[in-house]
Amino acid sequence: MKITDVETHLIQVGARPGVQGSQPGESDFRGSRNWLFIKVHTDEGVHGVGEGSGWPRVIATAVQDLKHVLIGEDPANIDRLWSKMLVAMMGHGQTGTVGGGALTAIEMALWDIKGKVLGQPVWNLLGGCFRDRIPVYGHAKTPERARELIERGYRAAKVSFTGAVDLDRVWAVREAMGPDRDVMVDAHGPSWMNTQDAILIGRELEQMDLLFYEDPIAPEHWTGYRRLRDALSLPLAAGERVSTIFNIRPLIEEELVDVIQPDTGRAGGITQMRKMAAMAEAHGISMAPHSGSLGPVAEFAALHAMATIPNALFLERIEFDWPGRYEVVTPVLKVEDGHLPLPTAPGLGVDFVVDEVAKYPSVRNVADMPVDDGWAFEPGTGGEYPYVQTRLQRAGKLRWKGPRA
Ligand SMILES: [Mg+2]
Repeated sequence: MKITDVETHLIQVGARPGVQGSQPGESDFRGSRNWLFIKVHTDEGVHGVGEGSGWPRVIATAVQDLKHVLIGEDPANIDRLWSKMLVAMMGHGQTGTVGGGALTAIEMALWDIKGKVLGQPVWNLLGGCFRDRIPVYGHAKTPERARELIERGYRAAKVSFTGAVDLDRVWAVREAMGPDRDVMVDAHGPSWMNTQDAILIGRELEQMDLLFYEDPIAPEHWTGYRRLRDALSLPLAAGERVSTIFNIRPLIEEELVDVIQPDTGRAGGITQMRKMAAMAEAHGISMAPHSGSLGPVAEFAALHAMATIPNALFLERIEFDWPGRYEVVTPVLKVEDGHLPLPTAPGLGVDFVVDEVAKYPSVRNVADMPVDDGWAFEPGTGGEYPYVQTRLQRAGKLRWKGPRA
């Protein structure tokens, strides 16, 4: 069997062409993003699907650039082809999100081909499963949303800090979830928080019995994590922006976090996810893959990988971001009792619907600056240098009612 072609399909997620908010500059376009789905074709009519997240429009170009490395090769030799692609990218510097996303999409599709050829789900080719359903966690900004998640069987919810740090909101969700369910906080490693801020906030969070404090500072800032480690008695999580075992190594080897969060769309592929998990396992660290930018193809890959990983904690899930999520792939995953079922069809068990994908052509891929509403930025300074401007009026950005009893 030989690889004959690689197709890339980009989708504008969250903004529908021809409706209000679908054009750059219109309010509903803000925060929309892209998904990149690919198809690897073979001379025997079998095709594999994959997805690369991170910076999809750029990754699509990287995938097309790598095509000549793949054409004529036997898709069965997944690890050899992965190494060949990595070497082909050497001249471009670090692998980064773009290289990681391209490797990921292609490697995922090669696993899909192998599973289809052998008539087995991918997880069964990776040592079999530890579990036949994968626990997921949701996002809750309010106690009402937390209660909704509980009703649907969720056992964990995450509170995001978007802009200001609202500790009262964390308390409200913590109380709604009760002592038998987990709560996490994601600070998103923002440029407006330095290590000392993260320690100050972490000391408040220590009282809230969190499962973890995610990306308190930018995940690439290893030395800051060392200081956080020493200063806080609070489990830490990071790694969603990192690809390959080489880049996640300091987080694991120095035991800077308790949970690593590689993104199944850009970590480098299913095998890289499993290698990261094995490195983490040796350090007593678990894995909770990121899904903030993932589309529904990579979510299937995450399920296959997590089924085979002993230290897989749970999967992040974005459910109601965009109705098109449930139109562009088949079959559609549905959460039951806080879990996603493990796919059993040969390969990844998912395909994307080319005609549906074509309805949402990619327009652009970079988010707008945050709204100048005084929440994340000092009003009137959103366009200025955020490292400086966001240092001002600290009390307004660290919103809580004071020390707890
Ligand atoms: Mg995150």
